Amino acid sequence: MSVNKHTTSLDSYSNDGHLNISRQRIAILVNDMLNDFIYGDLKSDRASKIITQIRDLVSVARKKDVPVFYCNDEHVEDDPELKIWGPHAMKGTNGSKVIRELEPAQQDHVVPKRFYGSFDSTDLDALLKELYEGKGVNTLIIAGIHTHICIKHTAYGAFIRGYNIIILEDAVSAFTREDHESGLSYIKNNYGAQIKRSSEILNNLTN
Ligand code: ZN
Repeated sequence: MSVNKHTTSLDSYSNDGHLNISRQRIAILVNDMLNDFIYGDLKSDRASKIITQIRDLVSVARKKDVPVFYCNDEHVEDDPELKIWGPHAMKGTNGSKVIRELEPAQQDHVVPKRFYGSFDSTDLDALLKELYEGKGVNTLIIAGIHTHICIKHTAYGAFIRGYNIIILEDAVSAFTREDHESGLSYIKNNYGAQIKRSSEILNNLTN
């Protein structure tokens, strides 16, 4: 059933190499916009600067029936990364909740995760495959934190499963500019992701 895959992929890009969003079966992934990362122990000033872009994006996506997935850390004791970062976003705590400004709407999907990558030991791939009348999502627009950790690992999960990947450079964030920029270039160079401004995607969705 993958006969047309290559053709479809070429067809999906305009001459200047831009992904033609209107021809894609897209979903938005909002990664780890949780109290602990925005207002808690692992907060950073940079992280709070992406809230507005994500809020605008999910708001338009909902109006256009584009599915929105929240992929959220929900750690339990002994999760490997707690050794690195200390306890954070522990299951059942306020720190593991999505920040109030971006609270998921009823039609949104919420995927709890215990590892960096949103595909790792979660239902994300299965849920994406059910959408668009069973044809499945083929393009993921990824926002949230952190560019060089969870966004990178989520992009890898998307890459090995064959999804087109769009990273919104002004709607993802890391603790430092260096981490953010090295994360973006790694994802672009190794997973073939397109790096876009969120305004460009908003224009595409609204037109
Ligand atoms: Zn975590």
